[in-house]
Parts: sequence; structure tokens; C-alpha cells
Amino acid sequence: MVFMQDVGVRIRKEINEIPLLDVHEHLISEKERLSSKLTPFYLFPHYTTSDLVSSGMSCNIVEAMRNDRMCLCDKKMWSDFHSYWKNIYNTGYFRALSIAVENLFGLKLDKCSWDEISQRLADSNKKGWHKYVLKDKANIGLSILDKLEPETKGLGTYQTTLEDLNSIDKELFVPVARFDEFVGIHTINDIRRIEQRFDISVHFLNDWIEALESAFESRVKQNIIGVKTALAYSRILKYDKTSKYEAERIFSRIFSGLGEGFAWVEGKPGGVSWLEAKPLQDFMMHHLLRLCADHQLPIQIHTGAFEGNAGLISNSNPVHLVNLFVEFKKVRFDLMHGGYPYVCEIGSLVKTFPNVYVDMSWLHILSPYGAKEALREWLGLLPVNKILAFGGDYVIVEGAYGHACLARENVAEVLLESIERGYFDEEMAIEIARKLLWNNAYEFFGIKDIRKTGG
Ligand SMILES: [Zn+2]
Repeated sequence: MVFMQDVGVRIRKEINEIPLLDVHEHLISEKERLSSKLTPFYLFPHYTTSDLVSSGMSCNIVEAMRNDRMCLCDKKMWSDFHSYWKNIYNTGYFRALSIAVENLFGLKLDKCSWDEISQRLADSNKKGWHKYVLKDKANIGLSILDKLEPETKGLGTYQTTLEDLNSIDKELFVPVARFDEFVGIHTINDIRRIEQRFDISVHFLNDWIEALESAFESRVKQNIIGVKTALAYSRILKYDKTSKYEAERIFSRIFSGLGEGFAWVEGKPGGVSWLEAKPLQDFMMHHLLRLCADHQLPIQIHTGAFEGNAGLISNSNPVHLVNLFVEFKKVRFDLMHGGYPYVCEIGSLVKTFPNVYVDMSWLHILSPYGAKEALREWLGLLPVNKILAFGGDYVIVEGAYGHACLARENVAEVLLESIERGYFDEEMAIEIARKLLWNNAYEFFGIKDIRKTGG
């Protein structure tokens, strides 16, 4: 027993020293943080709020918090909010924030007052905070950023703008880009928005395809290292093979109501339902994957659980994607969030297809024990290079820090258990940890000449 305690100390020390290649973040820029007066609600942009709503808290309180998290919320709302906390002290979301608040601000999240936490947040709101938290505290060597800046919100689907890509802090991040607006098309407004943004006219499917290609090319020039899609939030992940003829017919039907007359008055501009639009969207996804293949870029696909308190879990079963893995052999697929709760299904897919990998972004906070179970299962099931073991998936750096702590501990515990069972020796366990936390993602995303550490 004493022997295992020593091994535990050594393994944890080694794992803490491995820089993380964080495969998925939505972090706001430091500039945005600096320009805001941070209230304690800054700490709750999402996740914990989903648990609170699940526990019975009104969505109205959450909306008020989300809208005001940077400025207006008052102490009264904090005490309303506080009264629901006891239901979620146990969840991974709360645990990640507790770790962050304790280690970064020296406070107990469940006990601190509005004034205390406000003061610590104000003290932290200075240049260099992001680097301090991500590098010095979390030892995150590099993060893959799926940027969701305020100007791109409220568009139905998120879109990565060139301005977003330009403003990225290249010391900390490398970007992926989304093209979900081109794939998830179903209303005339989807077309109008793209026309406006790209200053183009769209009348036929070819125009739409050209717009996607042009957006793709311009983002490749901005050195994106992959594509991200989160369309499982809106539709099923089954992308059937459809003909261009079929897609064009649906595309034309979208123009059947141009927003004239009563349609305009009633606010029902032209379009088709998600279900009717499916063959067109399927066609566009196939085209997007061909672009990924041509440019040798991997794609990150949201699979499994949904953030928030809606979402049809059956839509996001990764098994729906199997035809794409077979057809697009040259595309590398990163199945996100461990596909939770489809952990076994994802394991089976990743084991079968050389071009399919699994990432554990979001997973260690979504279900800390589930993540550990999944890692234990996958380490017995999969070639070790197929697992990307960390992605913070936060909007705030403090969350990424808390999540990183939980992820390192999960990796350490699973490896220690394997040593104890005699599966690996200490040296091999550390080598595996390096692969899980840095090397696998480094190779999968083809990141070169960005960081020399960790490998
Ligand atoms: Zn995410």
C-alpha cells in the first residue's frame, strides 16, 4: 500500500508537468473580459445553469443571469440564485468551478459572499490573466478555439468570422471554423444572411456551393486547423447520400415564399421544415467533407449530450455517422465529448475505423465518474493514439482551469489502477499519459512548429 502511495505521488507529479493540448474551447477574449465589470454571475455563463434549471430553477432567472453576467446583476438575484445551489453541489459542473474559485481566488464557492467574490474578480481583471490561468496555473500548452464571440450569436447557428480568426491570441490558441450555416440551411433568412455577410447574390444551389467554397478557402488562409460542426443541436447526425438534383429541388422550394404580403406580416418568411430540408443539408455536409478531404483538414463533430435543457439525445448518437466514415476515408473525424452517453458505441466506431478518433472535451465535468469509466474502457479497447483526453469546452478561463484539474486527476486514477493491476509499469503509464494529454491531439490535428514542448 505504501508502495502504491509513492507511485501515486510520482504519477500525479509527472501528469501535472505534462502540458495539455486542449482540443476544444469557446473562451471569450481577454479584451472582452477586460472591458467588462465582472459580477459573480460571470462565473455562470452555462453548464451550472443547466443543472440549476434541471433541478427546478426558473429559466427566467437563468436568462437574466446570462444577459447580465457582465454588468447589471445585483445582490438580490445572487441570493435567489444561492437558494438553489444545494441541489447541484454534487455535480461535475459545480466541482470544476469550486476548484477554480478556491485555487485562483482563495474562496469557497458555496460559502463566499457577493462582495467577496466581486472583489476577487475585480482584482483579477487585468492584462495577462488569461495567460496566467491557462499557462501558469492549468499548464495548458495550446488550445483549439471554436470561437463564439457575441457578434456571431443569435444567428440560429454560430458562424466563425474572419475577424474572429484574426483576433485570436496565437500564443495560446489555434482556431477551427464552423460552416454550419451553409449546411443547416432551411429558410430564406439563412440565404439572406449569407448574402449580406459575403456581399453576394444567391439564386441557385451552385451559388450556395460557391459561397461555401469561398468561405472555406478564406478560412484556410487564416490557418484554421480543422472544421467544427454542432448541427446535432438542430437535426439528426444521419447524413444520407443525396443527389444534387434532389438538393436543388429543395433549394428552389426555399424561395417559394420570399417574405412578401401576408407572409411578411405574419413573420413567416419562406422556407421548408428541418425534415424537408434534410436531403439538401445532407448534400451540403457531403460537400463540406469533400472540402475537408481536399484540404487535409480534420472535422470535429458534436456527438452525444447537449448543453442546456432541451435537445434530442437520439439525434446525436454517433452511430448515425457511420456511412460518412466509410465514404470519406481521407477525412479524419474527431467525435466530441466521448459521445456521452454513447460511450460503448463510440468505442466500437473508433476501434473499427482508422480515420475516427474520440475526444473527451466537456466529459470530465459532464460526468466526472463517467469520464473515468469511459477512459478505463477505451484504454482496454482502443489503440492508445485514438483517444484525445482533454478539452475544456468553457467560455471562461477559470472553468477551463477547473476542468483541467479534474481531467488530470481522472487520467492519473485510471493509470494508477492499471499499474496496480499489473497492466502497465510506471514508465509505460507516463508514456500513455503524454499521448492522451498532448501527443495524440498534436498528431491528429497536424500541429507543427507551434509548440516544441510536450512531445
Ligand atoms: Zn463546445
